[in-house]
Amino acid sequence: MSSTLKAVRGTRDLLPPETALWNRIEATARAVFARYNFGEIRTPIFEDTGLFARGVGEETDIVSKEMYTWEDGERFDKDLLISKWNLANHERFGAAIGEFVHKTASTPDVMQYEGNDGNWELVVFGARPSAELLNILGSAVSADRALISKSGSAKQVTGRLVVPSPTPGALIETTNDGILIEPFFGNFNRSSQSLTLRPENTAGVVRAYIEHKLGETGQLQKLYYIGSQFRRERPQKGRYRQFSQIGAEVIGPPSAGSESPLRDAEVLEMLATLLDELGITGWTLEINSVGSSADRARYNEILRAALAPVASQMCGDCQRRAVTNPLRVLDCKVPEDQPIIDALPKIVDSLDEESKKHFAAVLAALDAAGVPYTRNHRLVRGLDYYTRTTFEFTHGGLGAQNALLGGGRYDGLSEAIGGPKAPGIGFAMGEDRLVLTLLAIESAQPEKMDAYIAPLGDAKDEAALTRINAAALALARELRRSGLSVELGDGSFRLKKSFETADKVARRIVILGEDELQSGILTVKDFASGTQTKVPRTELASFLSKTSC
Ligand code: AMP
Repeated sequence: MSSTLKAVRGTRDLLPPETALWNRIEATARAVFARYNFGEIRTPIFEDTGLFARGVGEETDIVSKEMYTWEDGERFDKDLLISKWNLANHERFGAAIGEFVHKTASTPDVMQYEGNDGNWELVVFGARPSAELLNILGSAVSADRALISKSGSAKQVTGRLVVPSPTPGALIETTNDGILIEPFFGNFNRSSQSLTLRPENTAGVVRAYIEHKLGETGQLQKLYYIGSQFRRERPQKGRYRQFSQIGAEVIGPPSAGSESPLRDAEVLEMLATLLDELGITGWTLEINSVGSSADRARYNEILRAALAPVASQMCGDCQRRAVTNPLRVLDCKVPEDQPIIDALPKIVDSLDEESKKHFAAVLAALDAAGVPYTRNHRLVRGLDYYTRTTFEFTHGGLGAQNALLGGGRYDGLSEAIGGPKAPGIGFAMGEDRLVLTLLAIESAQPEKMDAYIAPLGDAKDEAALTRINAAALALARELRRSGLSVELGDGSFRLKKSFETADKVARRIVILGEDELQSGILTVKDFASGTQTKVPRTELASFLSKTSC
C-alpha cells in the first residue's frame, strides 16, 4: 500500500469554521487600512535571492539559515538567438528584417524575412530541431507557397529552422521536405538565477517601489499587503514554515514627509485601532529608538566593550554574538543571561540629538492620541538600515511566541537595495498568531444558517424523490437569492435525520413534502424557541428574514 501523503511539516490546512475568522481578520484589516488611505500591494511570492540578502541582511537568522532558496536552472534564451542570428544575416535581408507572420497563441513565432533578391525565407528559432517545430514551419511554408502561386508571382519561399550549436562550423542540413536546419554557433542559455520564497514582504515592497519609480510621484506611498511568507524555522505552536503576514509600509521621498515622527505615531495609532477593532484585548506596545546608523555603530562598539569581560558567563549564542554582532545579544531569551543583559549600557544613551528629538516627538504624539506604550531598551533590530523607531506588539496569551507584530523605521533600506533615498516605516503582523489570540478569547463557532430546507420524499419512489428534490432546490434558490443563508437537505433522508442535521447547522427547518408543494403552505420550526409555524410560500422569505437574529 502506498503511504499517505500529508501536509509538509510546518505547513497546515486551514479549514472552516476557522477560515471564517481569517476572513474576518482580513476584512477588518482592509477596512482599517482604507480609512488611513493605504492601498493594497501584491508582490510575487518569490524574488531574486539577492533582494533578501541585501534587503533583510545576510547576518540575520532569516537569511543565513531559514530561506527556501533554489537555483532556477539554465534556460534557452530564444530572444538572444534571434538577435544574434539577425545580426549575422542582416546583409542578406537589408533593413526589413523580422516581420512576424503566421503568429498564433499556440505556435511559436514563424518569422518572415524578405531577401534582397525578393524571395521569402520563413524562419523558426528553437532550442533543438524538434518534429513539432519542423511541422509548424513546413505548414507555414506550404501556405505561403500556395498563396504566392495563386498570385502568379515568381517569388521563392524557403523554410529555415535555426538552432543553437555548441561548436562552430556545423553544417546546414536539409530535410526531405526541403527545410534547412541551421546549427548556429553560440551559447544562448540564460544563466541560472538563485530564487527564494519570500521570508518577509518589506524587501519586496521596497523593490517594487524602486522598480515602478513610485518615489517620482513625490507622494507618500501607503501600501499594505496580506500574504504567505516562508521560513525554515523549527515548527511549534504559533511558528510555522508557511505563515501569513498582514503588513503595511509608509515610504516616500523625504520631501513627502516620510521622515516625520508623525508617520511613526500614525502607524502605531492605526495598529492600536486595528487590534482594538479585531477584539484583541490586553496587547502591549513596546517601543524603542535605535537612532541613526552612526548611533548604532557607536553603540555596537560600546556594547562590544561592555560584553568583553562578561561574555564568558553567557550562553554559547551570546558568546558568539558578543564578537560578531553585539546588538543581537539583546535578543537572547536564556533566563540566566538576563541579569547580565539588563545591566548593559542602553542604546538611548548613544542617540544623537536629532534621533532623540525624533523619538520624543513620536512619544508625544502617542501620548496625545492616548495610545499606551512601554519603553523597551532591548528592542533593537540587528541591521544597519533600520533606524530610529522600533516596536513590537505582544500579547500574554501567546506563550513563548508572544510577538503579534513587529516593525520599525528603515530609512536606509531603499538605498541598500539600489534605490533612491526613501525613508519608510512599516510593520508585519503574524496573522496565524492573531487567529490563535482570538481563538483564546472567543471560540470559532460556525455561524448558523437562516434555514435548512428538508425535502420529504420516498426513497423507494424515484420519480417522486426527484420531483421533491428539484422543488427543494427551486425553493432554496428563491430564499438564497433574497439574501438568506440556506442549507439544503435531501429527500431520501428520514424526517429524524433531517431534524438532527438541521439542528446542527441552521436556526430553523423548513419542511417541504408533497402536501406542502400542493398547498403552498410550509411548516417552519424554530429550534431555539421550539415553535412551529405554517407560512405561505410567498411570505416565507420575509418571514425568515424578519425573525433572523
Ligand atoms: P518579523 O518579520 O520576524 O518581524 O515577524 C513579524 C511577525 O510575523 C511576528 O511578530 C510574528 O507574529 C509573525 N511571524 C514571524 N515568523 C513567524 C512564523 N514562523 N510563524 C508564524 N508567525 C510568524
